[in-house]
Amino acid sequence: MRPLIFAGNWKMHLGPQGAREFLTTFLESYTPTAGREVWFFAPAVSIATVAALVKGHAALRAGIQHIHWEAKGAFTGETSVPMAVEAGATAALVGHSERRHLFGETDRDTGLKVRAALAGGLRPVLCVGETLEERERGDTLAVVRRQADVLSGLAPDELARVLIAYEPVWAIGTGRNASPADAAEVHGAIRQHVGGLGAPVDTMPILYGGSVKPDSAAALVAESEIDGVLVGGASLDPTSWQAIVSVRRD
Ligand code: PEP
Repeated sequence: MRPLIFAGNWKMHLGPQGAREFLTTFLESYTPTAGREVWFFAPAVSIATVAALVKGHAALRAGIQHIHWEAKGAFTGETSVPMAVEAGATAALVGHSERRHLFGETDRDTGLKVRAALAGGLRPVLCVGETLEERERGDTLAVVRRQADVLSGLAPDELARVLIAYEPVWAIGTGRNASPADAAEVHGAIRQHVGGLGAPVDTMPILYGGSVKPDSAAALVAESEIDGVLVGGASLDPTSWQAIVSVRRD
């Protein structure tokens, strides 16, 4: 019932020229597969390039990594949802761990951003995940539930457009992975929790992220609870990205 989604987070890599070269190479060997989508979270300056290149490919979409909740105003350096939509984005990362931990983004901020994304026509991918310290304290589920609580109060039609990405902070960019079974267990707990907030759990995709590589992707998406992956480092090389998006799901 849920699509399998492969989302690349390019972080602060691939400006317009790099994005064009990447996608040109990727598209040369990309073959669409039923039930599979590939999303590209590009730097804001590269979204228009990505959107133009994926146009006409129903299963490919361009997204933005970071939005402000206001539509316009004196917010130097920020990008609003209407601007991202104008550039061709159809999705937005919200609450990525680098935004939370390097730039001080709070749950209040992520709540405002989820609402702004939905109001402006972007599908928000709400990122949740615990730090190593929180995990070792046994607080993983309490943390991800608290972070997911920003969805509370959304209407059913809004919740139907939300995705969640479970990304343990200790696994991002470190080469360490949650085991597929551990990740699936957390996904199950998140699904149950957001179901209690009114989310359509049968259709809401929950992605896993954290040092996913071509050789770890298959075991992750083999878990029925894991509806795809959000990938940083390994999404920057067209060859490894191609290998990840075409991984078998048995
Ligand atoms: C990410 O940026 O969301 C991420 C999971 O990065 P990496 O795959 O490099 O750990």
